[in-house]
Amino acid sequence: MIKKHYNTVIIGAGPAGLACAITLMQNGVRDVLVAEKYKFPRNKCCAGYITQKTVKEYARFGLDTEECGYSYIEDFKLFFKHKLRQRIKNRFLLTSREINRVSLDYAFFRLAVDNGVQIEENMPVTGHFPEKNTVILGKNVSVEYDNIVFADGTFGFGSAYQKTKRRNLAMQLVFKSDIRDGIDIHFGVTKRGYCWVSSQNGVTNVGMTDEYRGSKDYKKQFKSFISDLGISQNTSSLYSAFTPIGVRKPVIGSNMYFAGDAMGACDPFTLSGVRNALISGEKAALSIARSDTRIIKRYARKLKLKFFFMRLLMKTFYVPCVRWLVFNVGCRFLGGMVTFVFNRFLNKK
Ligand SMILES: Cc1cc2nc3c(=O)[nH]c(=O)nc-3n(C[C@H](O)[C@H](O)[C@H](O)COP(=O)(O)OP(=O)(O)OC[C@H]3O[C@@H](n4cnc5c(N)ncnc54)[C@H](O)[C@@H]3O)c2cc1C
Repeated sequence: MIKKHYNTVIIGAGPAGLACAITLMQNGVRDVLVAEKYKFPRNKCCAGYITQKTVKEYARFGLDTEECGYSYIEDFKLFFKHKLRQRIKNRFLLTSREINRVSLDYAFFRLAVDNGVQIEENMPVTGHFPEKNTVILGKNVSVEYDNIVFADGTFGFGSAYQKTKRRNLAMQLVFKSDIRDGIDIHFGVTKRGYCWVSSQNGVTNVGMTDEYRGSKDYKKQFKSFISDLGISQNTSSLYSAFTPIGVRKPVIGSNMYFAGDAMGACDPFTLSGVRNALISGEKAALSIARSDTRIIKRYARKLKLKFFFMRLLMKTFYVPCVRWLVFNVGCRFLGGMVTFVFNRFLNKK
């Protein structure tokens, strides 16, 4: 039953929203409602990769990712313009058996429920009156709050309060196949992004990312990419979603918070956002529990700096001559170093 008033209403039951809800409960704020648009288990457009650091983050909340079927796909290859440049024994990216996030998100959802979190499914936000601290859920359920947390993704309801609109587009197609197990990362297909083909246990997940420019026909580009690989697959179930570029305001006024993609906590270069979603959700919760908005603001500043360097790295890397050097000289003569960077540097993300 939805009450008329809550201490905190959280919009979205993704990693950010649930991390926020669990942390609030653990810090004595138990009057919490999570409103989620869909019914769980729900599909989320995501390649489903997590690093060891993300594994540790989930473990802090009490979730064992191994139990959700997460493991390494060992064979990891880097391609540039369809030519194999580097083979890496993968020790930094884990993924689920189905190469998606369904089981992980559902396990986290159940953990939140076990922690006493009230989650209302099929309950999208349809209206918001910040001056009255009131949110409208579903058809016409009016709920008052002391605090609200938008954890509803890059272009959810909360994005109306944010100025930053730059974004990456990410598309993916998941299908049954007999492609050998492995993760292939392709550069040189899109201008400022990469493509992936990961296969495991008869499932293949093919994806493509690029910095979004409205005028481009990305579907056509995706089709052309898979056709170049010799994959003849119906693209009617091709999903796409945006990820944010740039950290947004983590809090507006004293009681409107943002977490996860809604606050831009997704790496603009690699597109990994799950770990930052968990941490930002936790920081929003601590800010609420301790009535101290500086906690989430400090975290946002730290992320801003980190993403500034990632953007710089990205801009440099996508200069054509730099990429040429990386793949034709770096991979050829310093292959061991490339492997080291992937397994050590990226593992820290
Ligand atoms: C194709 C693709 C591949 C990716 N691959 C990876 C990867 O491999 N590893 C990684 O770490 N990150 C990856 N990311 C990024 C990652 O998915 C996000 O950073 C992460 O999901 C952010 O978590 P979140 O909780 O902020 O948002 P989400 O996981 O998007 O959760 C938001 C929730 O809010 C709900 N919602 C939305 N609108 C409303 C509304 N109006 N009312 C109520 N509820 C609402 C949604 O249903 C959803 O459940 C990928 C993203 C894309 C698009």
